[in-house]
Amino acid sequence: MYRSWQMYFLNSGMGSSDFAGCDDKSGRVVWFDSRLSDPDVKRVLGDRFKPFLIISRSSVRIRSQMGICDSCHSGCCRSFAVPISGADIHQFTQYQNKNFWDFACRWEDSEGLISRNLAPHFFFEDAPDVPFVICLKHIPSVSFPGTTKCRFLMECLPDDDHPKGLGRCSIYHSRPHTCRSFPAKLNDDSELAILYEIPTNGRNGEPAYDLCPRQWTPADLDPNETIQSLVVAKYEMTFFKKIAVIWNQNPGPWNSFPEFINIIYANRISSGQVGNSSQDQSPDDSESLSNAA
Ligand code: SF4
Ligand code: SF4
Repeated sequence: MYRSWQMYFLNSGMGSSDFAGCDDKSGRVVWFDSRLSDPDVKRVLGDRFKPFLIISRSSVRIRSQMGICDSCHSGCCRSFAVPISGADIHQFTQYQNKNFWDFACRWEDSEGLISRNLAPHFFFEDAPDVPFVICLKHIPSVSFPGTTKCRFLMECLPDDDHPKGLGRCSIYHSRPHTCRSFPAKLNDDSELAILYEIPTNGRNGEPAYDLCPRQWTPADLDPNETIQSLVVAKYEMTFFKKIAVIWNQNPGPWNSFPEFINIIYANRISSGQVGNSSQDQSPDDSESLSNAA
């Protein structure tokens, strides 16, 4: 069942030299030195570890600190359509050399269940009456055939202790703001965080979409980091809504969307001659944004 697993070598970006793989037979995580080259690793591991997944130790360590997520198969990264902002898109495409079409998609959201009034709706030339939310792309899951998962979620073998396997975010340090703020939201004053009540399953009852093994408590989260993540997430989505207003005035084709976003975000910093005092700024900055577009 797991023979088709891919091998991954990920640079942790944190100076860590340790990497991990899943032992094909025991399902246990094993660590080894990332200074080994690809052929070296194959020679050292040989047949013993044939199909395995490599994950960076730093991802595991930080995820482990969260406790509740430590032994989870990451049902949240399988269940939900995750809205991303233009800032997320710009970071991925311009600074991490990721291809927009490889990580992003547009999800139809006629009932507003994905946007939840937080993420903007975009309209496109080929379906002018359909509201879409820009989200992380889903791909088929190997661990749970017939289900899908975030394309950045790495799956690790099930074992006796983890019958659904383990899930790890392959871009943990640069994951979108929506992911960083889960499972909390800001209160009306944007000063306090409120924890969502998490249902037992995120979709249709499939085990792949089972969510947290227990409800989150305030002690599970760093209060400062949580508020800061939520504030940034809200700020970026508010800005993205302004971008949507401009785009939706004259919706273009879906294939021109990434270029539009990159132009806007590349012009987010001015040299200081324009709009550098509160008197100079229009109430919603829409004029300067339009100029940038
Ligand atoms: S980016 Fe990472 S944290 Fe966010 S949904 Fe994907 S795997 Fe999960
Ligand atoms: S489903 Fe809940 S416990 Fe599991 S990774 Fe997601 S937030 Fe953590």
